[in-house]
Amino acid sequence: MNEKGTIFDQILAGKVPADVVYEDDFVLAFKDINPQAPIHVLFIPKVRIKTHNDIDEANMEYVSKIHLAINKYAREIGEHKNGYRIVMNCNENGQQTVNHIHMHFLAGRQMEWPPG
Ligand code: 5GP
Repeated sequence: MNEKGTIFDQILAGKVPADVVYEDDFVLAFKDINPQAPIHVLFIPKVRIKTHNDIDEANMEYVSKIHLAINKYAREIGEHKNGYRIVMNCNENGQQTVNHIHMHFLAGRQMEWPPG
């Protein structure tokens, strides 16, 4: 990451290709390049919020919209009843590697708990 932004800014700008599965005014969702489940999609806000710590009153609408987008997408692909896992990693202990918040949507297999 640098002040020019992350790979996700480049995906948002259309400069790096992505397999987009959902888009609205607030949210872009695309398949993870290194899937950890049969269905692994990343939901990102169309503004750069670096980490979960940076969610605030001014940008929280984007986070709400991510949750609504996930609900729509889960219904659309028919995984809402079987269920799924959504994950947002934060900083080093959370193993966040891209500093533009993203919700991992994982589905299509039985998940385990606790996570590693
Ligand atoms: P984090 O580790 O930050 O929670 O998740 C970052 C995710 O972004 C990883 O699952 C990684 O596979 C995914 N990723 C990183 N670079 C790219 C990319 O260029 N395209 C796509 N589609 N996914 C990416």
